[in-house]
Amino acid sequence: MKAQVDPNTCIGCTQCAGICPEVFSMDGNLAQAIPGEIPAENAAKAAEAEQSCPVNAISLS
Ligand code: SF4
Repeated sequence: MKAQVDPNTCIGCTQCAGICPEVFSMDGNLAQAIPGEIPAENAAKAAEAEQSCPVNAISLS
């Protein structure tokens, strides 16, 4: 599973980085996701972060 943040949708609320800092971090005012596969041990928290994004800017695939 990989995570992507849509930079045109993200409002920089920092919630995803707070929930799952292993996958999401802030790059200025926007969140970014680690490139490549999410480590299995972080998948549940990444999904929680995706669900918590107030503007649905995160996609997991
Ligand atoms: S939770 Fe959503 S809006 Fe907030 S920083 Fe993360 S991607 Fe951006």
